[in-house]
Amino acid sequence: MSISKVLDELDIEKILREIETVSNDDIIKILNKEQIDEHEFLQLLSQEGANNLEHMAQNSRINSLKHFGKAITLYTPMYISNYCVNRCLYCSFNCNNSIKRNKLTLDEIREEAEEVSKTGIKHILLLTGESEVKTSVEYIKDAVKILREYFQSVVLEVYPMKTHQYKELVDAGIDGVTIYQETYDREIYKNVHIKGPKRDYLYRLDTPERACIAGVRTINIGALLGLDDWRVEIYKVGLHAKYLSEKFPEVEVGISLPRIKEISSTENVPYKYNEITDREFVQIFSALKLFLPHCSINISTRESKSMRENLIPIGVNKMSAGVSTEVGGHKINKNSEKQFKISDESSVEDVIKMIERVGYQPVLKDWMLL
Ligand code: SF4
Repeated sequence: MSISKVLDELDIEKILREIETVSNDDIIKILNKEQIDEHEFLQLLSQEGANNLEHMAQNSRINSLKHFGKAITLYTPMYISNYCVNRCLYCSFNCNNSIKRNKLTLDEIREEAEEVSKTGIKHILLLTGESEVKTSVEYIKDAVKILREYFQSVVLEVYPMKTHQYKELVDAGIDGVTIYQETYDREIYKNVHIKGPKRDYLYRLDTPERACIAGVRTINIGALLGLDDWRVEIYKVGLHAKYLSEKFPEVEVGISLPRIKEISSTENVPYKYNEITDREFVQIFSALKLFLPHCSINISTRESKSMRENLIPIGVNKMSAGVSTEVGGHKINKNSEKQFKISDESSVEDVIKMIERVGYQPVLKDWMLL
């Protein structure tokens, strides 16, 4: 069975009705449970859930301490190319946007790696736009080999690949893959992905599974929050993470919660996004933690410094630091377009201090590939 079958069997109208009929007593009962099921997870995403937010956040904190302790793993994203063949309305790298396109040479990747490694960071998230022609598997493989000389863990966030391609990259030294479905709603998916191979909803949906079959140690999924009704979207994210955790118990499943950000675009974007408030964001975060206590949650610099700090005690497991979203943004400086504007420009050193101030332990290396 594939995750698409699980999602196709959902009755969205029924889900929305259920969310509306949850009572305060239901929520209190759920919050007194050790482990909750998917129906109870859905109920936590309701307005009654929001009315019990403090209680929910407190339970999330206890759950996270039990499973992860006070450790927060730090990583830095490294963009090595912004060439892209897709036209996603929410992204400034989209192929219809007239921006300066760049791709780092292998020597430049080494320079960037040297610069980032000076900060003490040991975990790298390697990113490109989606263009198999400009950034071939061979090129990415060469980049990974260089990065592995400087970092203990390299996670890929590039275009969806076939299983044998992921296998080659696992052999080259990656230990994880990040791939967001962006939205699990097929209709919205079609409307925001106007052109390019990314229009293939099912191929993208099955990507985490192909990466797991290829032997990655970690898989990170998520949706771009703001494209669909967040309650329905997060319910589906939770089901997807549960599906992967059960099918691949040896793989660490992580969830990211990117809130849509303003982009610079040279084309008209005719799409109206749903805004997610900070309270709703905390509700999403806490409900996921209670439903999937073994899954890690990653908070990027799309969130502000104060929001990131406030989320730490509720159960953040991974956090980016010293972030640039442009190609060669750590050293090479090609003056290229940022993928999106970040909200926390703190250096690695500042993020370490912030985590320690809250009483948690920043972890630069939690994993070593032999
Ligand atoms: S989201 Fe990814 S695939 Fe879409 S335009 Fe941006 S870089 Fe390309």
